[in-house]
Amino acid sequence: MKLLRPTAPTTGREEDWRERAACIDQPEAMYPDSDATEIQVAKALCARCPVAAACLAEAMRLEGSRGRDGRFGVWGGLTGPERYLRYHRSARARRAAA
Ligand code: SF4
Repeated sequence: MKLLRPTAPTTGREEDWRERAACIDQPEAMYPDSDATEIQVAKALCARCPVAAACLAEAMRLEGSRGRDGRFGVWGGLTGPERYLRYHRSARARRAAA
């Protein structure tokens, strides 16, 4: 059975990138436990994914300002804690530029 990442409502354009996801046949691999090997397996899939940029952008959009504990799975090659750091670095840069 094919499962598409993420679970939020989609537009037709978003679904297009999901259909080309490298993880389309193994979505469970993208939600590793804290095991380092499982995380590396997930990241390896992302590294060869043609839609990694769109995936990461979607994760950042959906997660917004959520805390570290509210970000699940590997999206666009980044774990939840890594996306949390990315969000805060970007927010800090935006504030500094304002
Ligand atoms: S970047 Fe990773 S999580 Fe995102 S669609 Fe591709 S393989 Fe899946």
